[in-house]
Amino acid sequence: MIYITIHGGINEIGGNKILLEDKGHDVKVFLDFGKSFKAISKYYQFPFHRPQTISELIEIGAIPLIENLYSVEVEKKKNFDFSRDPEPPIQGVVVSHGHMDHVGHITLLSRRTKIYMGYCCHKIFNAYGKVSRAYSVDTIFDGIEHNICDFRTGEIIRIGELEIKPIHVDHSIPGAYGFIVFTSEGPIIYTGDFRLHGSTGLTEDFINSIEDLRYDTKILCLITEATHIDFSGYVSEDEVERKLSELFSRINGNIIADFSRTDIDRFFSFLYAAKRTGRKLVIDWKRYIIIREILEARLKRKYTVKDFEVDPDILVIAKEKERYYYLEEKKLFERLPEDKKITISEIAKRDNLIMVLSTRSTSALAEIGFPRSCVYIMASSEPFSEESEITFEKVKNWLEILGVPIYYIHASGHIQPLDLREFINRVQPRIVIPVHSEKPLLLKNFIRKFKWIIPTKGERIKISSLEL
Ligand SMILES: [Zn+2]
Repeated sequence: MIYITIHGGINEIGGNKILLEDKGHDVKVFLDFGKSFKAISKYYQFPFHRPQTISELIEIGAIPLIENLYSVEVEKKKNFDFSRDPEPPIQGVVVSHGHMDHVGHITLLSRRTKIYMGYCCHKIFNAYGKVSRAYSVDTIFDGIEHNICDFRTGEIIRIGELEIKPIHVDHSIPGAYGFIVFTSEGPIIYTGDFRLHGSTGLTEDFINSIEDLRYDTKILCLITEATHIDFSGYVSEDEVERKLSELFSRINGNIIADFSRTDIDRFFSFLYAAKRTGRKLVIDWKRYIIIREILEARLKRKYTVKDFEVDPDILVIAKEKERYYYLEEKKLFERLPEDKKITISEIAKRDNLIMVLSTRSTSALAEIGFPRSCVYIMASSEPFSEESEITFEKVKNWLEILGVPIYYIHASGHIQPLDLREFINRVQPRIVIPVHSEKPLLLKNFIRKFKWIIPTKGERIKISSLEL
């Protein structure tokens, strides 16, 4: 017998927290333990009011009430003694990728909890730890590192008797995985977040592994993301790069760009379009650190960390009084060639720059000196922080005053409806559970022929292969 409880990710985009209890193997694991932006943005106002205790997060429904699951130390915010943390009721958390809506709340868990994540995802998570500050109870990264076990695509993760096979998928962040979970009742597939219109083709490897498995056995259950089932774009990453080049060549003067710090495909789309049109990309220090970590994790690629460090077409904003938290960061900054550093006053004198915003906020506009009469290119959509959604309206107000129109050029990290239907038809699961969507019913009604379960949040669903 197995039980699945969706503690987050039902009728919301992200916040995935899927508890799998395998009675046959006597194992309990969470698939992802993400931050629910829906719950957080309903009750908090960044930066003035942020989560301070675990019990308030339980009360607002952002995280489940499960005894001994959480750290008893993180609320202290410093001088931690994690040996006081309880023995958790689960044997591990398996993380699909490094977006906050999937990994963001592992920071709340008892520091005795084993965390499994892909090698590159681990690098990104560490980079978050380096650049974030402990303003809220959920941004304490201390004490987690020694509990993290890395995996790579195709390697079997063994948790007690339970075996889980991660296989890379394409998403708007590197180091994203789908999983085949070999439960005592049969294989369960969890997609994490994925797409088929990216430029890497990784998702085909995931689907091929599932199809290979189907020669021997039926897929018991598919837990799939369905973010864009009700509203989808039809643009690929290659088209994004082409359109950026076209647009850059028509714009006189500087450009403001807005895209996720961890979207390495988008970074290269901007960089190559910039190179083609004689422009330079200006990034902030946090983005520099995160991209560096990602490039370090990506082996055997054409563009390496070394290339990045000396690339003359990438400039880094040098603040007058940057506060460095880590000595190694300071060393990195000092190592940066002088001609790669740029100050706000220098930005105003140039006209061939693409200034990449650090956040979608008015303070980010201030950081690049409130540029006038240029063009803003919005190239992201995913809710990466509670901060971005709230402050974007104010950014738009400023853009009106500054005379800056917005262009929207974006290829989503999430699978399109027709691709999703083809995917489900190829998997042929006995049960489908849609998550990471505000309209799971739409997906069910779009593809009627399978057995669908749309649970309520926290509902414990029993799955037995004999009863199907
Ligand atoms: Zn997500």
